[in-house]
Amino acid sequence: MSENFSSRRNEVRLLSTLDGVEMANFRLREFANAEGLAMVHPELLLALERVRRDLNAMAGENVWVIIKDVVRTEADLQRLAARLGWTDEGGSVSRDSMHLSKYGGIAVDLVAIVAKSRHPVPQVTVGEVCRRHFDFVKDDYANGHVHADLRGHL
Ligand SMILES: [Zn+2]
Repeated sequence: MSENFSSRRNEVRLLSTLDGVEMANFRLREFANAEGLAMVHPELLLALERVRRDLNAMAGENVWVIIKDVVRTEADLQRLAARLGWTDEGGSVSRDSMHLSKYGGIAVDLVAIVAKSRHPVPQVTVGEVCRRHFDFVKDDYANGHVHADLRGHL
């Protein structure tokens, strides 16, 4: 395989229908872990399209929704916990993370950036918009990301 061919891994546009209009603003690669394994629930994709729509409307200009992390294997979670600690030991990684593949791709960590200025959208604003479309949102992480998931749908 050529390097060019391999680099197109997961370069697949994901389609969802929002307000009767077909949207394809996200690609499978954005939902992949470090190994390139990807899992995404269609309702997660739809919620992300809604968040993007609302942030664009609020800003009155194009806003990028940047996905930082979606699905994690048990090994991914162990590596993350080694770095950030488990929540029951004062860290920030839950042993029963909604990012685990057994939950079917229902959790996302994200940030948002105003496209033209490259300014980050405040974490609290991203959190507020995510609360409209997700069941659970946590927006007080020190690195500025917002966690959102659909645990209420399980
Ligand atoms: Zn998360």
